[in-house]
Amino acid sequence: MGDFLVLIHTADEQLYYGIEDSIGDTVQPRVFVNRADVRIDDWDFEGQSPIICRCETPLTRAVEIFTTYAGGSYWTGRLCQCEHLVSGISRYDEDSIEIHDGIPAWSPWQTEEEVFAHQNIT
Ligand SMILES: [Zn+2]
Repeated sequence: MGDFLVLIHTADEQLYYGIEDSIGDTVQPRVFVNRADVRIDDWDFEGQSPIICRCETPLTRAVEIFTTYAGGSYWTGRLCQCEHLVSGISRYDEDSIEIHDGIPAWSPWQTEEEVFAHQNIT
């Protein structure tokens, strides 16, 4: 249990990196362009995060979110242009989200061993 690497993929093949708290089954809203920049900010997974999207008019696009936790699973969400997720953060709380077990085709890692090897944040 703890914090695990998450990949966020856009329809136009951009890849972002993020973090899932496996205890809360919650993804940190903020995402990162570079793997090396991924860090846990001052983040409270129970909804007190200061790092949510604060855009007056969020401009979002559809993404898929892939957690490396527990062999992998993925689901849909929405990412704002300010690089914060606005949907898909708490997948079990959003009725419209369908969760798929396993590894999506766009993942750079296609075996459970590779996924496991990349799952740690630090
Ligand atoms: Zn925003």
